[in-house]
Amino acid sequence: MRIGYGYDVHRLAEGRPLVLGGVEIEHAKGLAGHSDADVLVHAIADALLGAAALGDLGAHFPDTDDAWAGADSLNLLRTVRERVAAADYTVENVDATLVMDAPTLRPHIDAMRQHVADALNAPVGAVSVKATTSEGLGFTGDGQGAAAHAVCLLAG
Ligand code: MG
Repeated sequence: MRIGYGYDVHRLAEGRPLVLGGVEIEHAKGLAGHSDADVLVHAIADALLGAAALGDLGAHFPDTDDAWAGADSLNLLRTVRERVAAADYTVENVDATLVMDAPTLRPHIDAMRQHVADALNAPVGAVSVKATTSEGLGFTGDGQGAAAHAVCLLAG
């Protein structure tokens, strides 16, 4: 068994879609970034890479590479799962927490879990997504950005 941890932050900006766990959510602002800036999926992908000691997401998908401009981050996660599988590991489970004060994420959580599970070729029961607020404190509390934490367990 191998444990991995991932963390990511993206800034909220006007004129961007808000995509979390592959779900586009109605909101005045979206996350800014080279790809679709899906902060949840990035944290999960980094957890997988960390567990397999394969480096970080930026090393695998450099933001200088136009191939990933505007990319669906679920495709990045699929590629990460393939690279982890090539290192003879399989995903046992993932647990992630999104941190942002608005919008309310609860109605979208199950769809996020299904998207992530599909990208990982894992049952939805192996993927936990949780959401919390920062009680108005800091950059996640005042709407400047969103953060995500994730841990995973790989078997190999
Ligand atoms: Mg990111």
